[in-house]
Amino acid sequence: MVFVSRFWAEGMQRARGAAPARRVVVIGAGIGGLVSAVLLAARGFEVTLLESAGAPGGKMREIAIGEARIDAGPTVFTMRWAFEEIFAEAGASFADRIDLAPLPILARHAWSGAERLDLHADLEANVAAIGDFAGKREAEGYREFSRRARAIYETLEGPFIRGARPNPVSLAARVGASKLPDLWRISPFATLWGALGEHFRDPRLRQLFGRYATYCGSSPYAAPATLMLIAHVEQTGVWRLKGGMHGLATALANLARLCGATIHYGRRVERLIVEHGRVCGCVAADGERFEAEAVVFNGDAAALGAGGLGAEAIRATGQGRASPDSLSALTWAIVGAASGFDLSHHNVFFSDDYRAEFDEILKGRRLPKQPTIYICASDRGGADASGGVERLFCLVNAPAVGGRGQISPREIDACEHATFQRLDRLGLKIVSTPATTVRTGPDEFAKLFPATAGALYGRASHGWRASFARPGSRTRLPGLYLAGGSVHPGPGAPMAALSGRLAAASVTADLTSRSRFVPAAMPGGMSTR
Ligand SMILES: Cc1cc2nc3c(=O)[nH]c(=O)nc-3n(C[C@H](O)[C@H](O)[C@H](O)COP(=O)(O)OP(=O)(O)OC[C@H]3O[C@@H](n4cnc5c(N)ncnc54)[C@H](O)[C@@H]3O)c2cc1C
Repeated sequence: MVFVSRFWAEGMQRARGAAPARRVVVIGAGIGGLVSAVLLAARGFEVTLLESAGAPGGKMREIAIGEARIDAGPTVFTMRWAFEEIFAEAGASFADRIDLAPLPILARHAWSGAERLDLHADLEANVAAIGDFAGKREAEGYREFSRRARAIYETLEGPFIRGARPNPVSLAARVGASKLPDLWRISPFATLWGALGEHFRDPRLRQLFGRYATYCGSSPYAAPATLMLIAHVEQTGVWRLKGGMHGLATALANLARLCGATIHYGRRVERLIVEHGRVCGCVAADGERFEAEAVVFNGDAAALGAGGLGAEAIRATGQGRASPDSLSALTWAIVGAASGFDLSHHNVFFSDDYRAEFDEILKGRRLPKQPTIYICASDRGGADASGGVERLFCLVNAPAVGGRGQISPREIDACEHATFQRLDRLGLKIVSTPATTVRTGPDEFAKLFPATAGALYGRASHGWRASFARPGSRTRLPGLYLAGGSVHPGPGAPMAALSGRLAAASVTADLTSRSRFVPAAMPGGMSTR
């Protein structure tokens, strides 16, 4: 497979008139950065990837507890097509490199000891399950809701999700005059919560489908109804990666190397090198300079405004020092014994008062007194599942106030107590010890992901403008590009991957067109302008 990409890279080189490979530095080995590195290296660019952590993945990280490796970032894998296309573009086969299996149960939901609802991969199974759970009218409501979610997704996949960052006018132009009524039907001005009320009377179902807003780190009470497209994304498939989600990051890093990229871990980039108003490399914290004709930054775009890559980059996005305002999380990676509740692979235990929970987090800026709890039981949902001690990843939403001394250890302990007490009340007992539990909160996330205060999804998708307010792959600083969940098309592993593909396309287009007008880079020297 790699022969294919090398062959392609060599072909590209010949097409460029045997010019030496042009150098690109990618800062950050999160999903967006890895995808940019893979695609640029496959196109014949000389790619150096610098990552401050000791391993690839960024948020797609894993935590080791004894022999066990626990995914401690994304666990819900969707939009497989995005990764299939990216691997194929690099001349590799996704199926050959990633072992995955579809999950027949998308998620198991619980409200009380007795109220349980499974969402299935099969739509008709959901109609039946919702009918049993909440009655015939709600089942019909679900059918209409699914149709609407699908229509929104289909309207936006090409023009928004795959395309470069649009503004409202260019989005309308991409959608085309004949389909403008479809654009209106994506309901950008209604809130998700409000729109769900058109389909469901049962508050539990509004809660279940409203929770999709949190996939973008947002509140269902403020996010646009457009986000119901996530329900359609899940309905088209959720997979379990047998090597874990972190295995996907490792596979991308391996592919980048096979395509010719050089990866350095434990190398934090401190500042960009800017000459004559153009980025021409960067400097690592240890002082080493990396010269390049383009730099792709994969950290949160807010780090630029905060001066994290030097003074010249502060105005690169035009968004100043605004901190990301999406949700953070309090998480527990656990090796323990779970009993009393038949866990599926993905599980959600809802709070009694969803609105109060979001008000506490987003308005009160504190941990919820009674949180909704997500649990990934990564050993479940496959034939290889085993009983006894297992790997669990628990998450509750939290405010992005990391690194500011705003959340006391007492508040965190109280939230932990409330979380596991609630699980207990809903029938799930988890037995573990401090030695087999790793807790991560907003303060730790803030340290891992600079300038975020622990916000894990960039800027929240609150209001219709938010989707257009994320930066695109090109910045105001020539030679500097962006990839990652804080930039268009948005957060989530597949979306961050698509942003990496957009950044690679922008670099390729710009450097290729530049090479027609300016002398090519010489080995060992900088490009001339
Ligand atoms: C707990 C949690 C659960 C999630 N659940 C899901 C889920 O189930 N499904 C889903 O699809 N998504 C989920 N997400 C979101 C998803 O993980 C992210 O949107 C996506 O992985 C972000 O990728 P990224 O490209 O933005 O890079 P990031 O993961 O943000 O990585 C950026 C990298 O850049 C590095 N970096 C930053 N600055 C520098 C510098 N100056 N020098 C060197 N390196 C630098 C960082 O160390 C980091 O490794 C979850 C996220 C978290 C944290």
